[in-house]
Amino acid sequence: MNRTPLIAGNYKLNLAPEATGTLVAGLAERVSGRASVDIAVFPTALSISSALRAAQGTGIMVGVQEVWSSPQGAFTGSNSAVIAREMGCQWALIGHSERRQLFGETDEGTRAKLAATLKAGLLPILCVGETLEERQAGTVASVITRQLSAALGTLTPDEVATVTVAYEPVWAIGTGHTASPVEAQDAHAILRSHLRDRYPTYVSEQTRILYGGSVKPANAADLLACPDIDGALVGGASLNAESFAAIVAASGA
Ligand code: PEP
Repeated sequence: MNRTPLIAGNYKLNLAPEATGTLVAGLAERVSGRASVDIAVFPTALSISSALRAAQGTGIMVGVQEVWSSPQGAFTGSNSAVIAREMGCQWALIGHSERRQLFGETDEGTRAKLAATLKAGLLPILCVGETLEERQAGTVASVITRQLSAALGTLTPDEVATVTVAYEPVWAIGTGHTASPVEAQDAHAILRSHLRDRYPTYVSEQTRILYGGSVKPANAADLLACPDIDGALVGGASLNAESFAAIVAASGA
């Protein structure tokens, strides 16, 4: 099964609107003509409009880093999936480990947000991943499959097939320690077989599973060559157009 690679850049809480527009424009220059890879960037919410303007007509898609489970109401400080979609966003990140660790996001929270994202017509990237302690305790498979099951909840197979999963070991995010291709492939295979066991075959065949955690130009090609790795979710290296374009190029697409 050929899955189109997706290379996604998570800008986190970085870059004001002008700098975001400059970065996206610089990226667009470097990746133009690469039609067989999907590219998405996730600026801070305050810079989304600027990213959308710079991305117009380039094929680069824009997403929101966080959504609340309700589309509107008394939820001060939150982002609405419906408003993000109306603005022109196509993607949403759900369950990033920084949301889980710093903002108390729970498995139940990810389920509600994933449902809200799909309902709004946004494509979700659902992040799962174990901490170093969980890896050392030998619980990688149980942790990541629990996070996956909890978030998918009662979604239909067709809905699940629209979800992109990102395996992001917490110990590798922003640390410079990347999972080896073997470690990453093992985790991706666990996630894919979890989907294969629970849904019709097309779901596990279509679902893209990205790797995230200190991906850089130097390690991207080896990771992206693994059979169950369908792209990358990139933090730090996405803040530089040249590095991010080199990771896009490493997808071979
Ligand atoms: C991330 O923020 O999802 C991430 C993987 O960050 P980094 O590439 O900096 O480790």
